[in-house]
Amino acid sequence: MERTEVTPYNREHYKVESVDKSGFYTYVPKKAYSELQAQQMCFFINMKPETIHKIVCYKCKICGQWHLGHHSGKVMDNEEKEKVKRQYQKWKVVHGFIK
Ligand SMILES: [Zn+2]
Repeated sequence: MERTEVTPYNREHYKVESVDKSGFYTYVPKKAYSELQAQQMCFFINMKPETIHKIVCYKCKICGQWHLGHHSGKVMDNEEKEKVKRQYQKWKVVHGFIK
């Protein structure tokens, strides 16, 4: 995978791959999705029983594609997961996955 040295303002496109002992960060580009793929991935991850922190998808200003990232500290409890399940059912109808 391509390795790029970038400053943290590019964080929406890159993720930290590693930090060495001198504090030097190595970044790799985040996985890019189409809008629908990204939304579906978000639903899948947020509905998983083991998911604790909410995932969100967003359009990247750098590459124009969609990435997944963590919502700022939002915790997925059972109530939140039920909400996501209902949103996913609606989403599937809206996008023609269910007629
Ligand atoms: Zn990007």
